[in-house]
Amino acid sequence: MALHCGPQTWLQSYRLLSRARLPRYSPAPVRPLSEQASGKAAPSAGASETLGDHLIYTHEHLALKESLRKIIDTEINPHVDQWEAEGIFPAHHVFKVLGSAGFLGVNKPVEYGGLGLDFSYSMAVAEELGHIRCGGCPWPSGCKRTWPRPFGSEALKQEFLLPSIMGDKVACLGVSETGAGSDVSSIKTKAVRRGDDYVINGGKMWTTNGTQADWMCLLANTSEGPSHKNKSLICLPMNLPGTIKIGMWSSDTAEVFFDDVRVPCSHVIGQEGMGFTYQMLQFQEERLWAVANIMTTMEAVIQETIQYTSQRKIFSRPVLSHQAVHFRLAELSTEVELLRSLFYRAVVLFLKGNDVTKLASMAKLKGGRLAREVADSCLQFWGGMGYTSDVLVSRFYRDARLMSIGGGADEVMLGIICKYMDTLPKK
Ligand SMILES: Cc1cc2nc3c(=O)[nH]c(=O)nc-3n(C[C@H](O)[C@H](O)[C@H](O)COP(=O)(O)OP(=O)(O)OC[C@H]3O[C@@H](n4cnc5c(N)ncnc54)[C@H](O)[C@@H]3O)c2cc1C
Repeated sequence: MALHCGPQTWLQSYRLLSRARLPRYSPAPVRPLSEQASGKAAPSAGASETLGDHLIYTHEHLALKESLRKIIDTEINPHVDQWEAEGIFPAHHVFKVLGSAGFLGVNKPVEYGGLGLDFSYSMAVAEELGHIRCGGCPWPSGCKRTWPRPFGSEALKQEFLLPSIMGDKVACLGVSETGAGSDVSSIKTKAVRRGDDYVINGGKMWTTNGTQADWMCLLANTSEGPSHKNKSLICLPMNLPGTIKIGMWSSDTAEVFFDDVRVPCSHVIGQEGMGFTYQMLQFQEERLWAVANIMTTMEAVIQETIQYTSQRKIFSRPVLSHQAVHFRLAELSTEVELLRSLFYRAVVLFLKGNDVTKLASMAKLKGGRLAREVADSCLQFWGGMGYTSDVLVSRFYRDARLMSIGGGADEVMLGIICKYMDTLPKK
């Protein structure tokens, strides 16, 4: 795979630079009031990239985004129609392209192949991946590559984390089961100690990348204790005897069964029994990642709808010139900007070391609901064209639905928010 000069150059110069000084988050300076009042055009939705006006992004963030955009435009988007038709995308190929250019571990330590940058850079990558013209490809590349930092032995990090960040190994996350999705604590898969090994029995459902993955970050019960303290995260190679994978129609979302699968006990990430806690911590980042990603696609769908409706004429006028249409698009754009403000606030607080579970859950809830609104309203304005499968708006209508279910359903988010508001009925 020929890589692009741009990203490579960026990565190489970044790595040289990072040896001297890692750029850390520092808020962009606020424009003086005099300048703000000078009548200069305010940045529009697309212009939120403008440096100096941006709440959290610096030159480095924008350079990173630009490099990634080039890869998306040349290596990924030209093939999306084919992958959509085939019902699967080549995970090893795509991850290698992204990993070689440094995009799979921007906030992971340099010694494990990452760039050692802060979380805001990971969000910049997630935002940019929203330009991929389907939902199936960015989700697996983002959410499933998380590792419960800073846990895990050096040997595990070398064997699983490093090659995943470099794009040499594809990972998947095995949490959900046929009988346990929203209620993670009720999973049934067991990993029982036999000598120096765990013997694993059970199964996982809805495993994204499941048929192509080289290893699974598996959540399993490792003891009989209370359900929040009896679980562990285990690095499980996917080629061990006793592992059976069944791919689902038209997607790399697999059901995986374990029949006496043996894996060394040293494959447990961090402390045994802490898996539930680690997984919940990981979800906080995954939820912000998902919001960052979907905001970009929402904006793209609105922009493409503006373009389409300004060209398409009905009753001798462009569709867009009907007030019901341009007002609705203005409403949706306003909502996206509100979500963006909440998201950046959550990211800034997270970078400062705060617990942002409540804000991240609110952003995930709002992101899922808004995506449905954007998809439904915009698709309507495309008329019959919106019903065809090759336009972004119809893919978004289909793919964005996952946002309100995967990584914690809307109702799970509401439960978390209520917990923080102290309004949940006491048991
Ligand atoms: C395309 C796709 C990819 C996925 N990838 C992965 C993966 O890689 N790894 C993985 O582990 N899992 C994955 N999942 C699973 C996903 O995380 C679960 O589907 C999700 O957590 C919901 O669980 P469930 O499907 O069992 O729904 P259930 O738990 O059965 O919930 C059904 C519905 O009940 C409602 N509900 C839930 N809780 C409450 C409540 N407290 N009050 C009121 N109503 C409630 C919600 O509307 C929810 O949608 C994936 C799912 C999909 C669809």
